[in-house]
Amino acid sequence: MLIFMVNFYCIAYAQDNKSDSLAMYHPESSIWYPHSTPFYLFKGAVYSQSQVVWATSFHTATPVPLGCVGPEKYTRMLKSVNPNTRVAEVMKEALSDKVNVILVIGDGMGPGHFSLPVYMRLAKGDTLPTMFEKIMHEGDCGYLLTNPAGGLVTGSAAAGTALATGTKTRMDMVGVDTLGNPVKSALDVAVSLGMKTALVTDAAITDATPAAFYAHVIQRNLQPEIARQLAEENFIDVLLGGGASNFIPQNTTFGHCKDFEDCGFANDSSSRKDDINPIDTFKSHGYRLIHNEMQLQSVNNAEKVLGLFSPGGLPAPIDRNESNKEIPTVAQMSKKALELIGDNPKGFFIMTECARIDWEAHANDIGAVYKAVEEMNEVLKNAYRVYAKNPQKTLLIFCADHETGGLGIAYRKVDDNEKETFRCANGQMWETKTKALSFYEFKKLAAQDASLASIFKKSGSAEELQQNIEKHTAYTVSLYQAQKIFEAAYQSPDMPKYKK
Ligand SMILES: [Zn+2]
Repeated sequence: MLIFMVNFYCIAYAQDNKSDSLAMYHPESSIWYPHSTPFYLFKGAVYSQSQVVWATSFHTATPVPLGCVGPEKYTRMLKSVNPNTRVAEVMKEALSDKVNVILVIGDGMGPGHFSLPVYMRLAKGDTLPTMFEKIMHEGDCGYLLTNPAGGLVTGSAAAGTALATGTKTRMDMVGVDTLGNPVKSALDVAVSLGMKTALVTDAAITDATPAAFYAHVIQRNLQPEIARQLAEENFIDVLLGGGASNFIPQNTTFGHCKDFEDCGFANDSSSRKDDINPIDTFKSHGYRLIHNEMQLQSVNNAEKVLGLFSPGGLPAPIDRNESNKEIPTVAQMSKKALELIGDNPKGFFIMTECARIDWEAHANDIGAVYKAVEEMNEVLKNAYRVYAKNPQKTLLIFCADHETGGLGIAYRKVDDNEKETFRCANGQMWETKTKALSFYEFKKLAAQDASLASIFKKSGSAEELQQNIEKHTAYTVSLYQAQKIFEAAYQSPDMPKYKK
């Protein structure tokens, strides 16, 4: 999912550790002007401390990791390198054999993102593996090639369609083939077999990834139409996520909607341009409508439920705090959804999307990406528990739809005054001017406790921004750097979101 329409060019990072350097390229230079976003300037300013590199703020063609556990018949079909369409083919076959399927998608999670919790445990001396490693070790693992029809670099719509249906399609198309014809998803197969089904996401439930499992539109941004289709079809038992603004008629607010009058976003209004009322349609089909965590916990497994917890996307895992605790996390939603559908005698299918990995990667905010991947690890922890109760009849798969940002951690060349030396056992002197990034420095990533976007937003001056960066991350910037980042946050025409 693309949130920042910033025209980034693919760049290579030069190294620069002078205290007042900002980015590698002169911000006033017209050709590099598009890089003068607060995110770009921040990562340049802390590069000598973080050694974090991002190639772009967009998606890349880098293959994405996949891990799976379950009956060998299916897991061995997913090992090694596969086209992303293979996931749907295998899920459909498993479902047809009455095998439950749990799919967890880390949106935008490439090898660099996925390795962060793995390296973090190594850095901390924690010998317990991540769930990613555990699943890959016990079952099978591989890579998915994510290319859409007719190209190399995909988006969530084409990639979601491939994962959900096994059909490659054009960019931005959802649940249709390259000619626009509707195609069947693995969820459709589960429904036709009388299985219970659930879709869970921390993006909008009408966003491209979940929509690929039930909707058929040629443009992913037709979210009001996607909501209408979801309501008309009404065959999914549990729907949990954001995107509520697509579910009430035009010119209405949630405060005027009976089931949402006491919700946390009562003053927000519809984003529809018509009088269609998907929420009413859901009610007429017997769905329970909920909007907070407490209500979620009270749902029982005889009920069909539509949980809409935000007008748009849900908060980033790194921005979780007291003020938004009534909004369930993706791990809480996924756990509850599995409780609701997991004991059906005919079996079940569930897809959980961890969307914030992608959003934070679009912002090139590695601290926030790290927390979002840890959140996915929590989702997998519970998914694995459910799998382990019935391993012969359950297939658990995690994967991503594409890589976002070209994330890497690079070594750094330093001057003589920063070189490392060591006397070897044979008395020879070893030295290096190539900084590997120590585990101590790497662990600083985990100290970040607010997204860069929220840090920029709440800082009213360069001084405040400098203090907030110090307060919420383990990195420091000079006042000059803070001024440049502040100016970019509030003046860049590319960043209207952050304008005062
Ligand atoms: Zn995506």
